Amino acid sequence: MADPFSGHCLCGAVQFHCSAEPMFQANCHCDDCRRSGGGAYASFAFVDVDEFEVSGETHAHQHLSDAGNTITKHFCPSCGSQVYTENTKAPNRLGVRVGLIEDASWFEPKVNVYTSRRLPSTPIDPKVKAFDKMPG
Ligand SMILES: [Zn+2]
Ligand SMILES: [Zn+2]
Repeated sequence: MADPFSGHCLCGAVQFHCSAEPMFQANCHCDDCRRSGGGAYASFAFVDVDEFEVSGETHAHQHLSDAGNTITKHFCPSCGSQVYTENTKAPNRLGVRVGLIEDASWFEPKVNVYTSRRLPSTPIDPKVKAFDKMPG
C-alpha cells in the first residue's frame, strides 16, 4: 500500500512528505486541472493537512470552482510544477499531485471526476466510478 510517501517538484526546490497513507485517490478531467498541469487530466492523492509537510517556497494561485469554493493551487516558482491543492470545501484536506510522488506505483484512483470534460482519447477504467462533474 501507499504508507507514508515523499515527493518533490521537477527542480527539487520543493520537497514534501506525508506521514500517513492517502485518505482518497482520484483523477480529475476538468479544464482547470488540465490547464494548470498541462496534462490530459490530473491525479490526486488526498491527505490530511496535519500529516503533510512541505519544505521550500511555493507560490499560490486561487480560483473559484464550479461549486463556488475557493481552490488554491500551490506550485514551485522555479520550475512551475503543481504540488498540491487546497479547497475551502474541505479545509483539512490537501490534494497532492501524484506525478510528483517518489514512488506512486500504489496509485489507484477510486473515482474519475468531470468525465464530462474528458478528452475523447483518454481511456478510463470502467470499473472505477465516474462522475460527470464533482459529486456532492
Ligand atoms: Zn521546482
Ligand atoms: Zn479538476
